Amino acid sequence: MIPRKRILLFASKLGYQTRSFQAAADKLDVEIVYVTDRCHQMDDPWNDHALAVHFEIPESAAGTVLESQRGLPVDGVLALGDRPSPAAAYLARGLGLMHNHPASVEACRSKLRMREVLHDAGVPVPWFRSVALEPPPEPLLLGIQYPCVLKPLSLSASQGVVRANNREEFIVGAARLKRLLDSPEIRATREPHLDQMLVEGYLPGREVAVEALLTAGIPRVLAIFDKPDLLDGPYFEETIYVTPSRLPAAVQRAIEQSLASAVRALGLTHGPVHAEFRVNTQGIWPIEVAPRPIGGLCARALQFNMPGEVGGLGLEELLLRHALGLPGSDAPREMEASGAMMIPVPHSGILEKVEGEGEARAAAGITSLEITARLHDFIGAWPEGSSYLGFLFARAAEPAEVESALREAHVKLHFTLTPRLPVEHPVTHTVPPADHL
Ligand code: ADP
Repeated sequence: MIPRKRILLFASKLGYQTRSFQAAADKLDVEIVYVTDRCHQMDDPWNDHALAVHFEIPESAAGTVLESQRGLPVDGVLALGDRPSPAAAYLARGLGLMHNHPASVEACRSKLRMREVLHDAGVPVPWFRSVALEPPPEPLLLGIQYPCVLKPLSLSASQGVVRANNREEFIVGAARLKRLLDSPEIRATREPHLDQMLVEGYLPGREVAVEALLTAGIPRVLAIFDKPDLLDGPYFEETIYVTPSRLPAAVQRAIEQSLASAVRALGLTHGPVHAEFRVNTQGIWPIEVAPRPIGGLCARALQFNMPGEVGGLGLEELLLRHALGLPGSDAPREMEASGAMMIPVPHSGILEKVEGEGEARAAAGITSLEITARLHDFIGAWPEGSSYLGFLFARAAEPAEVESALREAHVKLHFTLTPRLPVEHPVTHTVPPADHL
């Protein structure tokens, strides 16, 4: 009898995304062992036998997992989200499994290091520099040009990312970013460099997200998502993703080439990659390259067709097959256009009421709606926030129809958010931070 394959899945939280992986693993008869950093005090509070480690000390987290798996077969390792990815890379190295080198993964965890590596390899990047947040920086002394973007070195989901068009906006933005990075919620993540920010030139232009799968260093692009809303700041909350892209074929090829150059420069070789690019008359600019799949529920926008498989397969199954060396990870994306809307947070507040769900679900082209924010919880708007109110999904023959379906469904939704009385520190997320997008 062929033994059941086992995979270690590193995830900061067990929720929608891990449930989708579990469903795919059940279909493939694969065992998933979860590795998480969610709770170190309690023994298996969720009864899922997850191993608890500290992702912020990746080598030691890998050592703990290695010890726990001694004598047990491990056939693959996958990381969901940015935080767990270095620990997963160290573990895969310890087990001799095909994976990205830990140094490459660590480079992707720091927005500053990524810029340095890309710049040194000749991949186009905006001007950039790291700036200490204390004492409050004076842009005139730093020779800052405008417009520029201020961002934390290691957070995700555009949290804390702010555009500044002049000195005043820079000073306000830096103070706001410092307050966010000093907040107990962010301090609790024990991310490094919370006393610094990255300042870089603002890149005008359209933005796309690319989902890809690397094998022996060669990327296979699974989808290019257009982001039809102009993301020109001052904050950069995501909204609509639609694939296939409506950009000219030559531009899409250039995006693929830019991805290949960026992963080569970073030394990424194996597994999923999620990347964001700005596209303008000067070329293609990688904003972010992350060795992990698209986060949140957005993977639901992707379906792949495998000969002989009725109903196709989702991204999770494709990634499990790839990580375990099972056939089928080369399945092409379906022909239909598809998209998702990360439902924006209009302003911070306590979510009191959601109306219009039925009408939104009934809108033409809409395939599903998930409200992920919990009633009576506080939800923060960007730049302090990092969680969406929910996700809308649509499918149609053409990308333009998908976009209109998402917009039409969105206007039917109404969220009542009541402002909270001011507290000592302005940043609180009772809604857990979003899976990184
Ligand atoms: P995160 O990893 O938190 O998502 P990113 O560095 O990817 O942070 O930035 C988040 C978003 O902010 C990007 O998707 C983009 O829309 C915007 N952004 C970031 N840097 C720039 C830049 N230099 N020029 C223009 N927009 C930017």
